[in-house]
Amino acid sequence: MVLEFLFEYASSSLVYDKVLSRVLEKSEPEGRLVKTDTQIKLYVEAEDSDELEKFANDLSLELPHSIFLRNTEVNVVDAMPDNDFVLPLVDKPALSFCPSCLSKVLDETSEDYYNPFSECDVCGYGSDGKRGNYKSLFEQIASTISSGAVVMVNTFYGEYYLGKLDAKCNYVSFDVLSYDLATISKYTNVTKYETVALGAIEKPLIGLKTNLKFKIDFEEVEEELLRFKLADDFILYLTMVELHKLGVDCVFITKDKMAHGSELLIADFKETMEPIECVVGERNIIILGGDKGLPKFELTNEVVIPYIGTFNSVIKEHDFSEKTVVGLNMSKDYHNNILVYGKKFGLIEYLSFKSEYSSVAEIFKAIIDTNETGKKLLTNYKNEYTELYEKVSLITFEEKELNIYKIWGIISIVLGYSNTNDIYKSADKLENNAKSFLGTKGPRIDYKLQNINSKVYLDPLMVIRTAMTFKLAGVDSLCLSYGVVESFVEFLSGQLDEIKQNMSNDVVVASGSLLGNKHLFSKLDKEVSINHELYFNKELPVDGINIRYGGNELLHT
Ligand SMILES: [Zn+2]
Repeated sequence: MVLEFLFEYASSSLVYDKVLSRVLEKSEPEGRLVKTDTQIKLYVEAEDSDELEKFANDLSLELPHSIFLRNTEVNVVDAMPDNDFVLPLVDKPALSFCPSCLSKVLDETSEDYYNPFSECDVCGYGSDGKRGNYKSLFEQIASTISSGAVVMVNTFYGEYYLGKLDAKCNYVSFDVLSYDLATISKYTNVTKYETVALGAIEKPLIGLKTNLKFKIDFEEVEEELLRFKLADDFILYLTMVELHKLGVDCVFITKDKMAHGSELLIADFKETMEPIECVVGERNIIILGGDKGLPKFELTNEVVIPYIGTFNSVIKEHDFSEKTVVGLNMSKDYHNNILVYGKKFGLIEYLSFKSEYSSVAEIFKAIIDTNETGKKLLTNYKNEYTELYEKVSLITFEEKELNIYKIWGIISIVLGYSNTNDIYKSADKLENNAKSFLGTKGPRIDYKLQNINSKVYLDPLMVIRTAMTFKLAGVDSLCLSYGVVESFVEFLSGQLDEIKQNMSNDVVVASGSLLGNKHLFSKLDKEVSINHELYFNKELPVDGINIRYGGNELLHT
């Protein structure tokens, strides 16, 4: 009998390729690997079904989950394939430990017991160091942290500070390092899809709403959304194992320099890398930022055009150059649009989200000038919220060009949700409101199009106007913020359906840091997928170039 194990696996890191080859080498039944761009198939042949069952068991013990794994299947097939796959010789990416190295490090009888330098051809950071049993060192470090002190730690990818979650955290920006998935689930509203991703070999950071509360010295600050992760190298892992024994299951981890009581500097990192951060939907996972373990990104002219964003990189990653592709370009920082690419007609900007207003007063005036209803709305708003009206009327923006995120920021300011004049922070407040909403439906905000010089634009005034109308009608801030985000996804979904009718496009690709809004991403992932084949960047951050290369110089290219 021949069994075919199929893995839909979209990574160039060769983790699965190597683990599968390794399992095959050791296995009794004879086997073969076949690989395409998006799939790896492993075939094994044996007379005896017990032998195949044992093989499947061994495989499941050795094979880590990966965020790049989409689907697995096992099928019975007629015969073994003829061709055989040869592992290409490439450098291994910097990667957290694999299951088989982990079991060695935890095995008292192994010579790698408590040896943080354990690694294999699949996993690890390629770091040199004196192998050995470092148990007592990790015990000391854990006890220092447990007693309340901060410890400076060299991981295999950079210098960090760890400590208990308490008042100290208020002075640094930090993430939460957890002992296990159960701890994360205890303190957050993590979904099952996020749980699976957190446990994957890439060990990504995921932003989660948490009920963790810390003592705060000077003012009441609510840390609602924090990024969580599990240990992604043996230095952090063994520290957490020892901390767990002392009853500490999560600590803060930060790069911000802090006064510290002790140091753990045995790891010698070759290069500083940023752990990746993911947003996880039901069907897709996107990488929001970071570079650890990802293929090196080549900066070429085609991907640095801000008007196109990362559209080209998604096309390239998925090899869509022969297809008609619609692209949603949704950056928080840069120009937003819907692009259509086809081999026959090239690249078209189908719809632009650009608008230019330099102050709230200018927006108010434009609303008044639109029509009688607009004039009435402003009068009502002014009468009802006189103080707010006077305050926000003075606010000016430095931004030359507004995009969706910045319009949300203006809405947040005009509705009085934000106590700052900063557009980004205000938009962030609106996003957080939407995340905190517990209902399932918000008010319908009007995202409408307008023609200017025969080009199609989103009308930002209508969006702001409807939001103001709902505030006057007494809709609460969480529900209304939810409506602003939800209606936008519904608008996009409608636009995509219309474009498909006109352009008969094959696929839709979405990119840009706005996808980091979990609510927006999950809804888009779910709803747009009904009528379209929806794709995101595979291994590159959604705003990739901006995050990794500092961004601003790209605007001048
Ligand atoms: Zn390993």
